[in-house]
Amino acid sequence: MSLSKYTIKRNFTVSPEPGGKIAKSKIKLSFVVQRHKASHLHYDFRLEMEGVLKSWAVPKGPSMNPADKRLAMMVEDHPYAYKDFKGVIPEGYGAGIVEIWDKGNYSTIEKNDAVTAEKNLRAALKAGNLKFILHGKKLKGEFALVKLKGKQENAWLLIKHKDEFAVDEYDSEKETTATSPINKWLTENKQPQKKSLAYKHHTS
Ligand code: MN
Repeated sequence: MSLSKYTIKRNFTVSPEPGGKIAKSKIKLSFVVQRHKASHLHYDFRLEMEGVLKSWAVPKGPSMNPADKRLAMMVEDHPYAYKDFKGVIPEGYGAGIVEIWDKGNYSTIEKNDAVTAEKNLRAALKAGNLKFILHGKKLKGEFALVKLKGKQENAWLLIKHKDEFAVDEYDSEKETTATSPINKWLTENKQPQKKSLAYKHHTS
């Protein structure tokens, strides 16, 4: 596992993001979903594996509805400490606001111990077919990440499995609060209403 791509892309003298250090959870594997208002609003889905966070950018956000197959673009490994990162990234790579949308621990479907789990997960990652159980506040139960064949190199699908946590309708944006820094930003930076036709006639 290497964090060289992560490190090369960022300037840590200006960015508050954590530096590229390998580290691990003590007992259970961690996951985090960050909501990221960059040039486009998207979600970043990250699974701890062998001292780093394997990472996917999910444009539409994760879903608890098994019918939603969410495109997930694999991006560079992020350092373990990134699981706690939230804040404002200044001009440069990924500039914008990052907030934590959900976090918790995760396990393999077989619920192996962390050492066996990492070994199995690494093989599954290589095979392009990861199955796991999320124990988050929002995301719960079985999920899969499946690599798309013959498509773009890094394209995967994030899919909720049918289980007792699955729902028929889900919108990750509705699971946010008005006080979230990104929602505040979106409210404050709303496009001003276009002047009405009547007003235009009046002034001409
Ligand atoms: Mn991002």
